[in-house]
Amino acid sequence: MPLVYRAECSHCKNSAGGHDVDVAVKLDDGRTEILRHPLETHDLERLGYTWEKARMEGRLFWVFHYVCEGCGERHDVARKQEATTGCTASLLWVAGGWAAAFLLGYAFFGPRWYKCFWVALVASFGFMIVRSILDSQKESAINLAVDQTERCRKCGGSKFVSLPAAKKKLLPCPKCGTKSMRYDSIGIS
Ligand SMILES: [Zn+2]
Ligand SMILES: [Zn+2]
Repeated sequence: MPLVYRAECSHCKNSAGGHDVDVAVKLDDGRTEILRHPLETHDLERLGYTWEKARMEGRLFWVFHYVCEGCGERHDVARKQEATTGCTASLLWVAGGWAAAFLLGYAFFGPRWYKCFWVALVASFGFMIVRSILDSQKESAINLAVDQTERCRKCGGSKFVSLPAAKKKLLPCPKCGTKSMRYDSIGIS
């Protein structure tokens, strides 16, 4: 259920907007096509895929939309969907941490279970923190590889703001250049 954002330039009446996030599929020729909401399934089938097939082949991406703070141009950033393995992998990771820490605690304290338990508990939190750091690094790597634009194609700027964050800012209009566009959420679709 993405949020819908819209902005209008108070100077030239140019308008812009869209969802804060869309789903896209990567095609064989390397292009990424955004699936129209709520017709995603229909669009996928038109392109010759089902959800299951596209997911298994790693073709599905979340597309987040950003606005360049320098010129107001919109930028799409695609991030790979990893939903199918994410949960199980995390659980295995934490379980592994628990097991390792429990054995370590046993080696240090012998059969005093309550001490082993606390060591395992603290260690599993440590494992979860490490895991989330690794995940965030992985995500930014994918993000740059797919998008390949660390700088704005139009003005060369490097500051971008997401649509939800753009709500609080007055941004330049990509058409007339006046700093007179403010994004607002107008509903859920
Ligand atoms: Zn304008
Ligand atoms: Zn720009």
